[in-house]
Amino acid sequence: MAAHIISGKEVAADIRKSIKEQVDVLRSHGVIPGLTVILVGEDPASESYVRGKEKACGEVGIASEIVRRNDSITQEQLLAELDRLNADPAVHGILVQLPLPAHIDEKAVINRIRPDKDVDGFHPINVGNMVVGDDCYLPCTPHGIIELIKRSGQAISGKQALVVGRSNIVGKPVSMLLLRENATVTIAHSRTEDLSALVREADIVVAAVGRPQMIKGSDIKPGAIVIDVGVNRLETGKLVGDVDFESAKDIAGYITPVPGGVGPMTITMLLKNTVDAAKKLNGII
Ligand code: NDP
Repeated sequence: MAAHIISGKEVAADIRKSIKEQVDVLRSHGVIPGLTVILVGEDPASESYVRGKEKACGEVGIASEIVRRNDSITQEQLLAELDRLNADPAVHGILVQLPLPAHIDEKAVINRIRPDKDVDGFHPINVGNMVVGDDCYLPCTPHGIIELIKRSGQAISGKQALVVGRSNIVGKPVSMLLLRENATVTIAHSRTEDLSALVREADIVVAAVGRPQMIKGSDIKPGAIVIDVGVNRLETGKLVGDVDFESAKDIAGYITPVPGGVGPMTITMLLKNTVDAAKKLNGII
């Protein structure tokens, strides 16, 4: 039977509607949620991500500002920029678009963002709170993945979940969030032996690798929930995920497409974190 396609576009639109309503309430109290994005250099992919964030903010009524800096900026200058934004009461969320030029220490930059304005959820304090299950801003892509699974109506608790990839921005945090939802979690990576055997056992597969169509339908457990985080451009120009969608869609029970799956959720969870930050910083909970 063909899998149910989990539309990230639809879920994201639904969540954004509720975010807009929350922004309207905040505005009626005189609070305009504000997100500032720092963009260093002229990487076209980063430029396009940042513009997508700006557009999404505008649609829900969040004030957004892009601080553009030349890639000759020094680390000290960038940290001083963050200190300015940390102190600005109109700025509730701060995001530094990664990657940064090689001469800048990414860690030092992330660590400088006030944890209560760190709407990307990358500051070690937010990461630590996520691991121990305390209140924090959850990282956007992993949070979006959990929302997609939940809104598909499928239970996570008790399921065998396989996360393929162990990056700090996707693989590791989504594994923690699945564990928080009481899944039994396995994390696979480039040194994993016999990945196919692990995929065959999994009720939930989250693929976050960056290798086009590497997970084949023949390995997927019939009825499994398959969340494809990968974004890969083929030589033909076509955008594909880490899962071979064509062969997987007839075997999985639920599957996300690429594009239109996880992608729209990432920005949506950023909007949510920004609104939550505006509430917290203004004592409105
Ligand atoms: P990274 O490159 O940081 O991590 C990739 C992970 O995949 C690593 O842990 C690596 O293992 C593992 N890996 C590599 N080859 C294999 C293999 N053959 N078998 C098993 N595991 C392997 O990528 P990201 O986590 O940043 O991103 C992953 C994908 O998700 C990319 O395509 C990216 O574009 C996409 N993405 C999409 C987002 C969205 O909003 N839709 C947001 C973020 C990312 P090891 O650690 O051993 O090297």
